[in-house]
Formats: sequence, structure tokens, C-alpha cells
Amino acid sequence: MAGGALLQVKDLRKYYRVTTGLMRRLSGEIRAVDGVSLSINSGEVLGLVGESGCGKSTLGKTILRLEEPTSGQINFNGIDVVSLHRRDLRELRGKMQIVFQDPDSSLDPRMTVGGSIEEALVVHGISDPAELEERVARLMQKVGLEAGFGERYPHEFSGGQKQRIGIARALAMDPQLVIADEPVSALDVSVQAQILNLMMDIRDRDGLAYLFVSHDLSVVKYLSDRVAVMYLGKIVELADKEEFFRNPLHPYTEALLSAIATLRPGGSNRILLTGDVPSPLNPPAGCSFHTRCHRVMPVCPQMAPELTQTAPGHYVSCHLYA
Ligand code: SF4
Repeated sequence: MAGGALLQVKDLRKYYRVTTGLMRRLSGEIRAVDGVSLSINSGEVLGLVGESGCGKSTLGKTILRLEEPTSGQINFNGIDVVSLHRRDLRELRGKMQIVFQDPDSSLDPRMTVGGSIEEALVVHGISDPAELEERVARLMQKVGLEAGFGERYPHEFSGGQKQRIGIARALAMDPQLVIADEPVSALDVSVQAQILNLMMDIRDRDGLAYLFVSHDLSVVKYLSDRVAVMYLGKIVELADKEEFFRNPLHPYTEALLSAIATLRPGGSNRILLTGDVPSPLNPPAGCSFHTRCHRVMPVCPQMAPELTQTAPGHYVSCHLYA
């Protein structure tokens, strides 16, 4: 059940400088995150979708300050995250955690998995051996692994089991928000549902909130309370899940949804997205989706649309609804 605002992000930007030559002359900037505003309530799951390269993973990392923001505001539970000193970030990261797509990226192959989970606790100042042992066993149980598995090494586990260990590490300090960055997309389809169900069980039990980053709308539909769509560094549509799937407005959302609708018998015609996502180094002028939009109008390359509320809680950035 969702409570009050836990995370508030305002006009967040993450630009990367691009330099050329020996003198490293500035030749441009990649606008990976370009003015994003969103909020997540306690216990809420916000699904964030878009094609790869749209900036959604960078947004997650920037919220955690694994990437330094270029500008904007991040407020987590009353804490101004952007101005927080580096030494205070460790404490914050106990409460705001990330689960990566590739579980191997957070596991040391030379360390037992019990040791890896213990490390996450030690980093946050827990040193009593009895407490460490008890908490590691509890975390392993929480993610559905036998405590005895703690003596084994990562290579002895399947992809799904390794992701369970990654989740156990993320849960070490009882976080309030987990940024889940494509946590099931590297797993076999048969295992994906198990991991998603585990994450939802933990949400229901502990009141966790998730920013659930995915390119897969079916996954997002399964577990989100609200859905945001990102394109070239910007949020282009945001709505409650029911409203989002019943009444999608943005042409990009229509195209993404048509791709999953056509997988069902009797599904509607697919709207084909032509070409790749343009480079964020040189985004199209006006509405950055106009080069691929099936409803493009003369105004679209001329002027960028604003994110506008069209119904309570439903926001869209498109001249069709201005
Ligand atoms: Fe398409 Fe124009 Fe809307 Fe952009 S503003 S999504 S190009 S109709």
C-alpha cells in the first residue's frame, strides 16, 4: 500500500561532456537525463520504461548519486541528496539501494555469497560476529535461499539464484527504496516470474518502494502502481497503471503498447517504430520523437512540447494534447 512521498526528483539533468583532440576541447554534451521530474511514494512501485539508450538506467544511478547530477533536485525522505557530502552518502545508500541487471556485477567471484552479503552489512558499520551471522542467515531466508548456501561461491549458482543474492545484498540495511535496473532481463523466462514474485512479496511484507526500470511493458504492467515512459532523457508520459494501459496518449507509448498487444490473439495492428533512438548527443529539434512519430505534425520539429496534465495524475508531453 503506497504512503506519502518518499522520493521527489525535480528537473534532474545528467549531461556528459564530449571532448576531442589532445587538448580535450569540448565538442558537445550527451543529454542522458534531460530535465526529469517524478516522485515515488512509500511502498509504491513506479515502472520506468523505454528502449535501451533512452536514459532510464542513468536516471536510476543519478538518483543514487552513483552518477553525479549536472543539475536538479533529489529529495529522499526529507534529505537533500544532491548537496549531501560524499561521506554521508554511505548511510543514505543503506536506505536507497540498487539491484543491477547482471547479478555478477555485485558479486565478487572469490568471495562466498555469505561473505558478500556480510560485506554489505560491514560497510554499514555492523561488526558483531553473532549479529552478522544471524542477519546473513535471515537475509538468505528472505530471498528463498538456504542458509547453508552461504559457504558457496557465485559460480555454483544459477542466474536466478545469483539475482536472489543480489537482492539480499540490497536488502541488507532495510532500505525504503530499491532502484531495480532491469533485474530480470538477463534471466531465463522461466525464472523471471519467480524473481518478480519475490520482489513483490518483499514489497508487500516490508512496505518497500521500487523504481522498476525495464524495457518490457509486460513486466511493468505486472508489478507497477504507476508507469512513466522515457524517451531521449525525458519523461514523455506518466500515469496510474490502469489509466496508462486503458488510455495511452503519447504516440511513443501507443507504439510500445501495440508491440505487446500484437502478441495476443486478436491483438490490434502494430505501430512500427522505425529506426533507432536518435543520439542524445544530437537530439532532433522540437519534439525529439518527431523523427519516428506516426502522428507527426508541422509544429513538431519546430517546438518542444511541455509535460502537461490531461487528467488527474496523467501527464503527457505531446502537441496533440497541448
Ligand atoms: Fe508526435 Fe508531435 Fe506528439 Fe512529438 S509532439 S509525439 S512528434 S505528435
